[in-house]
Amino acid sequence: MKCMYCQAKMEQGTVPFHIDRKGIHVSLDEVPAWICPQCEESYFEEQAVDSMQALVTVVEEQIHKFAKTA
Ligand SMILES: [Zn+2]
Repeated sequence: MKCMYCQAKMEQGTVPFHIDRKGIHVSLDEVPAWICPQCEESYFEEQAVDSMQALVTVVEEQIHKFAKTA
């Protein structure tokens, strides 16, 4: 895999990721990603993006459930 900005060879690593939604702020320190050693651009694999979206969905569902029973 090559960087779409500088064409350098991407390396596998981890990067921090933050999700900010209305009332929900999820912060992950180490998410697997491809990182460009030259320009430090990072890309998440589709699987990682799906997992993070699923995580937020679960949190939202739990909050709605809690709000109804409270
Ligand atoms: Zn690059």
